[in-house]
Amino acid sequence: QVADGLTRLADHLTVEQLTRRFGAFTALDAVSLSIGKGEFVCLLGPSGCGKTTLLRLIAGLDQPDGGRIALAGRDITHAPPAERDYGIVFQSYALFPNLTVAENIAYGLKPRRDRDRIAQRVRALLDMVGLPGVEARYPAQLSGGQQQRVALARALATSPGMLLLDEPLSALDARVRDRLREELKGLQQRLGVTTLMVTHDQEEALNLADRVVVMQGGRIEQVGTPAEIYRRPASRFVATFVGDANWLAVGSRQGQSVMVGSHRLQLAAPLPEAPELTLFLRPEDLVVKAQWDGAANTVLARVEDVRFAGALTRVRLQPEGMPGQVLHAELCPAMLQRPPLVPGEIVPVELPATRLLAFAGEAA
Ligand code: ATP
Repeated sequence: QVADGLTRLADHLTVEQLTRRFGAFTALDAVSLSIGKGEFVCLLGPSGCGKTTLLRLIAGLDQPDGGRIALAGRDITHAPPAERDYGIVFQSYALFPNLTVAENIAYGLKPRRDRDRIAQRVRALLDMVGLPGVEARYPAQLSGGQQQRVALARALATSPGMLLLDEPLSALDARVRDRLREELKGLQQRLGVTTLMVTHDQEEALNLADRVVVMQGGRIEQVGTPAEIYRRPASRFVATFVGDANWLAVGSRQGQSVMVGSHRLQLAAPLPEAPELTLFLRPEDLVVKAQWDGAANTVLARVEDVRFAGALTRVRLQPEGMPGQVLHAELCPAMLQRPPLVPGEIVPVELPATRLLAFAGEAA
């Protein structure tokens, strides 16, 4: 499988029709997924969608009601956790408070090696996670970010074939989180360890993952590269959950065009067969033009509000001939080939055919 120049190696982990019920409630509903060797996959979705349930089943910390899990071709559906060859990091650091950093990291190594080699390995792991020299400290003497580095070192201690991460960065403050995110990605790439990470943070998933798995209600909504998820959301749920969007109510359809108010808009992507359609357009895909050029999908709009937002300017537009519709645009001032926008002025705006997507159903 080739996607965005990314060639996937042999599948490392395969999940087939995995189901988990809690009483009458189905937390995971026949989920199937394959992860390539060395791939970084993020499970993304709102609270309660089943991300953690799926991770726990893969880890062997919980048992499925149906389906199968295979690791490198071997059925591990009912294998004990110790036979699954993974390291795991949870949101809460989960280090043993009464053990030193070195003892925490060496925990899984003990029976296998002599003392010198263990000390050497602990030192190498602490170097690897950017925290040299803290062997003798206790977890309480470390910051949250440092504890999470230790937890990562512990997870990697046995050089596992797979790294399972359950929101490992979400308890950290923004600056520490951004830094650790970068380092985690670098480390994962260097080690080439197959990684499955649970997150509810779309930015984190888009940033880190080779592929993102978007989940909702115990099911997978879409699997794709970050660019595919962002550019070609497969459902309204994905389109709403990931990134910002404009939604426009469609009056009627004619072939590959739709009527929005009195405007005919063309779409490059096929229209779904449905009685009601809603158009989707990212705010950064709106093009504000220097002057009216009569091009397709171009409308006149009144500038209602202009907000400075650092690298971007956020603009609210009221398109003429589309009563009740509002367009939110994110413009890059450096790229705008015209003077800055002022509230009250009328500007030509293109809704590019290649960027518009249509989804079944009415506008929310
Ligand atoms: P979050 O981001 O909040 O952790 P999640 O996507 O990881 O959400 P899960 O923890 O997988 O969600 O839970 C999925 C659903 O299953 C939730 O509705 C949850 O309440 C339910 N659930 C999970 N574990 C149990 C359990 N042991 N008993 C009953 N219900 C459970």
